Amino acid sequence: MHPIIILGSGPAGLTAALYSARAHLEPLVVDGHEAGGQLTLTTMVENFPGFPDGLMGPDLIASMRKQAERFGAGFRGGSATSADLSRRPFRITIDGTVEECQALIIATGASAKLLGLESERKLMGHGVSTCATCDGFFFQDQDILVVGGGDSAMEEAIFLTKFTKRVTVVHRRDKLRASKIMQDKAFKNPKIDFTWDSVPEEILDVNQGKVTGVRIRNLKSAAVTERPVDGVFIAIGHTPNTQIFRGLLEMDEVGYVKTHEGTRTSVPGVFAAGDVQDRVYRQAITAAGSGCMAAMDAERFLEHAGH
Ligand code: NAP
Repeated sequence: MHPIIILGSGPAGLTAALYSARAHLEPLVVDGHEAGGQLTLTTMVENFPGFPDGLMGPDLIASMRKQAERFGAGFRGGSATSADLSRRPFRITIDGTVEECQALIIATGASAKLLGLESERKLMGHGVSTCATCDGFFFQDQDILVVGGGDSAMEEAIFLTKFTKRVTVVHRRDKLRASKIMQDKAFKNPKIDFTWDSVPEEILDVNQGKVTGVRIRNLKSAAVTERPVDGVFIAIGHTPNTQIFRGLLEMDEVGYVKTHEGTRTSVPGVFAAGDVQDRVYRQAITAAGSGCMAAMDAERFLEHAGH
């Protein structure tokens, strides 16, 4: 039996771990299927306060983890596969074993969205990727397509120009969603060009088992063109990792957990922090802040519940 279980080890989960460990609540952190969360898939983080020269995402996560460990937070690998929140103690099944807790903090984050093409699924890891930081290196001097018009797409495109010959951003509208500063950086980069009002309709070539090109549909003219490329990076946003809580907790129509009065969910004793409950800000610093809030909310809940 644990006073607190924290699901997820990104900035929200690790900050919740730090605060609840310092409150002597001996939290158990369950790493989740992507230990460290999205920051481990990024390069330079320049907007986390306190680091005037920026720092690498994985380094930031490693430091947060070390800090939580120093105060006694426990960690285990694996992911929660089901949960019984009908009564306390809550019962969480983690890869086949059941762990019980009096309070639960859900910080499972969000995962990359895909276009939903059969060819995308088949060529994932064979030229199709959702993580430039992880895979960019494999595309030295090649032609790459990045799909999306948000900050992630711009970041991926800019990062990829370090390795590649040319990066084409394909966006479904004629205006980017990305912040002004990221747009400016991308527009200024001579290796990046844009294809507007368009979406990939097919990634080629499944038969060869590698990416050789993309069939692109212009949504305004309906014209379909084929473009030879060596890799496709999908950067079209994220889906909250809340599948196991469907029907157990109140969520919005997309699946983000609804919170009220801080980080409280619809089940007393269950709290949510970070991207899993935030479809607006989704920053490392806001995730960390809400992780702190969740730990404090959980601590108060346990105090009132007499634990
Ligand atoms: P996002 O802002 O939701 O952008 C997703 C992009 O993908 C949009 O341009 C969207 O088009 C497009 N898209 C969505 N579904 C699509 C589909 N099925 N087919 C084709 N295109 C599709 O997601 P994000 O870029 O991952 O950013 C998420 C959050 O993280 C944002 O708050 C962002 O500011 C933040 N972030 C910040 C930084 C940074 O500051 N350096 C870096 C990365 C992320 P529409 O525009 O038409 O909707």
